[in-house]
Amino acid sequence: MRRFSIDTTVTGHPRLRFTTVLINIGAGPMVAYGHSPVGNGDLLVDQQIATSGGALMSIPSGFHMYFAGDGHHHWHLRDLETYQLQNSAATLKRISDKHGFCFFDDVGFNLTLPGAPQSPVHQKADCGTAADTSVTMGISVGWSDRYDAKLPDQYIDISDLPAGEYTLTATADAQGYLQERCEGNNSTTAILQITGTTVSVVDRGKASEACAA
Ligand SMILES: [Zn+2]
Repeated sequence: MRRFSIDTTVTGHPRLRFTTVLINIGAGPMVAYGHSPVGNGDLLVDQQIATSGGALMSIPSGFHMYFAGDGHHHWHLRDLETYQLQNSAATLKRISDKHGFCFFDDVGFNLTLPGAPQSPVHQKADCGTAADTSVTMGISVGWSDRYDAKLPDQYIDISDLPAGEYTLTATADAQGYLQERCEGNNSTTAILQITGTTVSVVDRGKASEACAA
């Protein structure tokens, strides 16, 4: 996480803004295939895993995709990441209203990893349009998707939060829906001092690490 700031655009509702980066340092691409519209228009989501033999394995994931919702006219995977702010006693807790994620090969992270394509495979346009009844989103090995602090909903409302030190945690796949090489590197935390409408970084946290051998 980076670029922490407090946005005072909405009177009486200061917003802690921050940039998060979702990284794939796994053994294969992270691919979500939305299909089969259900009653409310959501798509069911399968995770597609490339097997070592080259075949594609589809596993129902528990995730849904939904259209728009944040003013963007594309599909989003619901709650791929969650953001939470809490004090050390865990008596005060705020969560972000950001629920929608359209993910793709946005920024190269480590293109020397085995299997990393040297140019983007998954594109923002793959998040589709209203007319689509199936959508495939993904992040290739070695690539990352960056959620800029300025994006709609990329904040936590900190109205009436007392001054103090807080822990901000970003967690990918908090529900454990996705099959991954390991689950231990899915979250990152930063320690922030928040006083009124100022924020200073006590500890910006570290980036995800590779799975333990
Ligand atoms: Zn969007």
